[in-house]
Amino acid sequence: MKKIPFLDLKQPYLELKEELDQAYQRVMDSGWYIYGEELRAFEAEFADYCNVKYCIGVGNGLDALHLILRAMDIGEGDEVIVPSNTFIATWLAVSYAGAIPVPIEPNEKTYNIDPNRIEAAITEKTKAIMPVHLYGQPADMDPILEIASRYRLKVIEDAAQAHGARYKGKKTGGLSDAAGFSFYPGKNLGAFGDGGAVTTNDPVIAKKVRLLSNYGSLIKYTHDVKGFNSRLDELQAAFLRVKLRHLDQWNARRRKIADHYLQKFTCLTFLILPEVPSWSEPVWHLFVVRTPERERLQKYLASCGIQTLIHYPVPPHRQCAYRDFSNVSLPVSEKIHKEVLSLPISPVMDENDVEYIWNALEGFKL
Ligand SMILES: *Cc1c(COP(=O)(O)O)cnc(C)c1O
Repeated sequence: MKKIPFLDLKQPYLELKEELDQAYQRVMDSGWYIYGEELRAFEAEFADYCNVKYCIGVGNGLDALHLILRAMDIGEGDEVIVPSNTFIATWLAVSYAGAIPVPIEPNEKTYNIDPNRIEAAITEKTKAIMPVHLYGQPADMDPILEIASRYRLKVIEDAAQAHGARYKGKKTGGLSDAAGFSFYPGKNLGAFGDGGAVTTNDPVIAKKVRLLSNYGSLIKYTHDVKGFNSRLDELQAAFLRVKLRHLDQWNARRRKIADHYLQKFTCLTFLILPEVPSWSEPVWHLFVVRTPERERLQKYLASCGIQTLIHYPVPPHRQCAYRDFSNVSLPVSEKIHKEVLSLPISPVMDENDVEYIWNALEGFKL
């Protein structure tokens, strides 16, 4: 029987082995492992890729979001609007800063934050809106930016799943005041360890994030604020430079698989497929379908050798970590979390894999 793993991190390494091994050797031979030429070069290249003025490499995606909030002086007593339907890190960044996450329900078709519900949640404590480009599909930014400008709120993109995605032709990472990216190995642009970045066009935010990420210091042993230690090291920066050169091509391979799925699966009545608005160019970090028969379908696919995952089984407000939200009811999110199933999608899958998954799904008995 054929086996299709959900995620294969070794295959992409083997495809780029020569370039990656060279990058490794270059950094090891340099004798310089933190804050060097590789980081400087990667930051310039990733800023260019996102069409923004500044990029600051940091330790991971959660830190990227947290440091942006700190740089905006958002903290104790403040509220930040977040999607109810997201990976918990979006909420944790707000909590880390000392502020309160205020969850907003998603649009059921795109899974992204529903802009129509935002205004009602704004109070005098609200300081920012943090939309997530969930599963690699851009959030509907224009209405969010319009509300934010009317109420003088900051907008921060959680772009951890959306490297290269476009909204109305514009790249994510440059659609708002600042954006946080993750280079966790499984992300569309993944390192070989933890990594993250902040992108922004605002020189003040850029400078503050840099300061906060390096002990509050721009000049060695001079500390202007009580900072953190969250840096992207030379090895990861060197690896990311190699992978960045291949990102568009790899995203295109994901898109091809998603297009096949969207075409073929429309006739499967037990599946609800993700909707792509006309202004959206997603990068398909995940391909998430919904079905009321999720447990049975997942077991069945596993019996066919097809590994699927659930993103995410429990919404943040139902986690023990957020037990203070236990009285909050978010019915759309709760329903979605019971039905979502992520099918394998990756740059190293081919047409045969897609055909195999299609045949398996066709054989599923309701
Ligand atoms: C991965 C992820 C993060 C956090 O990134 P890390 O690098 O793992 O800290 C934040 N938000 C979303 C939506 C993510 O998927």
